[in-house]
Amino acid sequence: MRKKIIEFRNVSFRYGDEGPWVLKNCSFEIYENEWVAIIGHNGSGKSTIAKLLNGLLFPQEGEIIIDGEVVNEESIWNIRKEVGMVFQNPDNQFVGATVQDDVAFGMENRGVPREEMKKRIIDTLAAVGMQDYRLTEPHRLSGGQKQRVAIASVLAIAPKVLILDEATAMLDPSGRQEIMQTVASIQGREKLSLITITHDLQEVAQADRVIVMNSGEIWKEQTPREVFSQKEALREIGLDVPFVAILAGELKQAGVAISTEPLN
Ligand code: ADP
Repeated sequence: MRKKIIEFRNVSFRYGDEGPWVLKNCSFEIYENEWVAIIGHNGSGKSTIAKLLNGLLFPQEGEIIIDGEVVNEESIWNIRKEVGMVFQNPDNQFVGATVQDDVAFGMENRGVPREEMKKRIIDTLAAVGMQDYRLTEPHRLSGGQKQRVAIASVLAIAPKVLILDEATAMLDPSGRQEIMQTVASIQGREKLSLITITHDLQEVAQADRVIVMNSGEIWKEQTPREVFSQKEALREIGLDVPFVAILAGELKQAGVAISTEPLN
């Protein structure tokens, strides 16, 4: 039986006591070794979900369970050992003086033994193609290189859950494809639950399942093929025509057959 790693149970969230509800009664489950893409119009609640998963925020209503533990102020330190997260802006994620210090940081916090740390620094930097930059100061790196290091830092903590919130946005299309291939192969090998919040269509096409958000609610939870065969409905919830039209092509390239009649 597949192991359930994440569960959102009737989760509602708002910023502050008076603000509008930005997540409304959301329930979903994510399993071990599963890749789920979360898509939706701007402001639909995607990043809020990511922050709730990492205990940067807590829900006012409902429950979030990660690897059998309810997420709350006490459990979050434990849970963060299992959840790695990379955001869009890599500049906010650097703490070390060199690339290798940076990759080491998360492991030091989690008490990884020194020899194991050295090995993981080498392995994860190689996995993202940054092995030659171990001693470089992070601020000297390009946006794309910073993002690679941020991903290596998170992989080094060997999480059960990896969340990429627009994390490949700074990369060019070929770099993005390359790094997602790396992440996908690590995901399969380590049986990670991978959650990608993305506008990148190839990433969406590669996921096992897609959660489509609309104004704080889960609109659909389907395979990429099912979701993107509903172009009209997607348009109605603010996923614009270019997005859908391009996606049809991407799905085709990824070998997913869907109807591709022209959009007008
Ligand atoms: P998405 O990632 O889909 O663009 P977000 O989760 O960032 O959506 O935002 C959902 C809603 O919450 C939006 O209406 C946004 O304006 C609001 N929001 C996000 N962050 C904050 C914040 N720190 N304070 C108040 N409102 C916020």
